[in-house]
Amino acid sequence: MVKRDINYLSNIDISEIKGFGEKRIKSLNKSGIKSIVDLIRFYPRKHIDRSDILTIEDVRSLFEFKEITVLVKIVKVSVFTTRSRLRIATLLVSDETGDAKAKWFGPQYIETRFKEGDTVAISGVPDVKKTGSVEFKNATIEKYLEFDELNETGALIPIYKKIEGLSSTLIRKGIKHALKRTPEIEDYINDEQLTDYELLDRTTSLNDIHFPEGLSNYYKAKKRLAFDEFIYLQTIFKRKKKSNKLITGSEKIQSNNELMEAFTENLDFELTSAQKRTINEILIDMNKNSPMKRLLQGDVGSGKTIVAACAVYSASNAGFKSALMAPTEVLAEQHYNSLNPILDKHNIKTYLLTSSVKDRSEIINQMSSAEPVFFIGTHALIQENVVFNNLGLAIIDEQQRFGVDQRKKLIESSNIIPHQIVMTATPIPRTTALAVYGDLDISIIDELPPGREEIENILLSGLESDNNQVVDYCKQHLLDNSQIFVVCPYIDESENKDIKAAENVYEQYINLFPDSNVKILHGRMKSEEKELIMSQMNNGQIDILVSTVVIEVGIDIANATLMIIESAERFGLNQLHQLRGRVGRGSKKSQCIFHISNKLTIDTITDVGKQRLSAIVSTNDGFKLSEMDLQIRGEGKVTGTDQSGLSDLKIADLRYDFEILNLSKLFFNKEITPELEERLYLEATLLFPNFMKVEDTT
Ligand code: ADP
Ligand code: MG
Repeated sequence: MVKRDINYLSNIDISEIKGFGEKRIKSLNKSGIKSIVDLIRFYPRKHIDRSDILTIEDVRSLFEFKEITVLVKIVKVSVFTTRSRLRIATLLVSDETGDAKAKWFGPQYIETRFKEGDTVAISGVPDVKKTGSVEFKNATIEKYLEFDELNETGALIPIYKKIEGLSSTLIRKGIKHALKRTPEIEDYINDEQLTDYELLDRTTSLNDIHFPEGLSNYYKAKKRLAFDEFIYLQTIFKRKKKSNKLITGSEKIQSNNELMEAFTENLDFELTSAQKRTINEILIDMNKNSPMKRLLQGDVGSGKTIVAACAVYSASNAGFKSALMAPTEVLAEQHYNSLNPILDKHNIKTYLLTSSVKDRSEIINQMSSAEPVFFIGTHALIQENVVFNNLGLAIIDEQQRFGVDQRKKLIESSNIIPHQIVMTATPIPRTTALAVYGDLDISIIDELPPGREEIENILLSGLESDNNQVVDYCKQHLLDNSQIFVVCPYIDESENKDIKAAENVYEQYINLFPDSNVKILHGRMKSEEKELIMSQMNNGQIDILVSTVVIEVGIDIANATLMIIESAERFGLNQLHQLRGRVGRGSKKSQCIFHISNKLTIDTITDVGKQRLSAIVSTNDGFKLSEMDLQIRGEGKVTGTDQSGLSDLKIADLRYDFEILNLSKLFFNKEITPELEERLYLEATLLFPNFMKVEDTT
């Protein structure tokens, strides 16, 4: 038999499939189905199990009422219209073991499609009366000639996403036909490998994903097809990385080892070995004409900022500007406050640009100057529409908070192509990282600076006794001269409501702790006010700082040892982790209280809230949490809008398919020859058009 490959099949138009007229072809095209391959890869949403074929006698003794199929002969057809003009079509049917009735309510014209003497298959949930009579209501029925030709009954029936103008039946028939036309599809995995990797062959998988004999066949097919998708992804991204490396236009930034050593030795602390390793990876990349694109991942508090600062130092020494863009003013200011003194010692000028900075002319002049200065800012950095002169390095902090466009804009606002560092404290699970950042190189800081005590997690309900405990914890920390963060309920996207909630909580704490210095911080306050409060908190003058989520990222105060998150069930998992990361920065033992809303308990909040809270208290490891988060939220939310590439994944499920991903990586690295890779790449370009389009994820 001739084996057809994907490439060949993608050239066969669906107009060659029986039953698809012009109009339907238009609808199919609209849904992205143009070739036979597209049709075959239009995988079902689910299956309905009608595979249980029973005799009428079996039906009578059914213990539970479930969907079953009977194969019967029509004895009599009748139609009746009630006084309320409801049409009822009734078929009297029988097999060797007995007879049954099947009724349809409404205009389904059963009587025109079936006649006495026809053999039919009927699937539905039967009704068995006390007298033993069997009746189906609005069941699925089709003519039965040969078992193989049954389309809607007698098996696991695939259900597809709706396509306008096409019935499920028609889609099923079309796919069956397409599969028949392609009896053998060439497989890039040979028999021996199929056994070794416990995979099903391609042809069987494509058949069984639609029309499996049993569920286990379906799952095997699904595993194989998900495996293929991961293989394709790896092929695409390997190629992308390679071609990224061929792009030139960045300036080589050679780091001066002696200066760099002096720079790092001058810091207040010793770099962790993970920091040293990542700095090294970055410096090597920067010393190339092809732009570095590196994702710097590290848990909250792992010390990403100083790694970025080393890169800035190197760029500046070589005569290039750098820019660091942060998502919030508070964070940009904090970066400025911590990095400016360090860089200033080495005569590198740092400028802060946020919306609150009034006098911009000097900064804007500097953007186009020849000086190798460093800019820290919010998106205000890209709003000036100034072209940076010789921006050699662009750093995006907390990249998950920016859209693709904003990141791109920063990159494009230079006369040269800057090297790029993208930082995130929301580690991306392995599968998603492959799908979203496959073309970035990844550096991971997998170690926290030494001397940090593990944060203790405390989950408290909103019942009175627990509320009192919150107060007790506060007292203990205050006695110890430690400082406390209280983060207020996250209501929704509107900051006004958050501020209102924060003001209420603020009142409560003022009343509870009249002898302590309690302050409030929120996003609507003037920049000077915020800064004053932050510096007071920094200096230890404030005992309790009540705030909205503006505090979420960045803030770093070693003497703060208690974090109280009010209405914790309302926050997202990553948010909770970020907030918790605001304490545990120093050597004192820190605690984080997840306080459920007033009067509620873990048993009376939503399921999702419950899952998030049990996840957050179960571990302090951000990487683990982000995988849990993915499972709680579902991948849809993760993929979001600006990561459209993911829509190409038709069957691999980023939440659950880690093992298949790992298997595919193993296969990819061990078994794929250059020729095969070439072929798979070709197929991938056909099957993953969106991934091919995602030019830059940064
Ligand atoms: P994140 O990775 O969350 O952005 P930061 O870069 O803000 O973390 O660092 C958190 C804190 O840890 C800062 O106060 C920073 O000065 C400090 N820090 C960074 N690296 C080290 C280190 N190697 N040893 C001790 N403290 C460090
Ligand atoms: Mg940070």
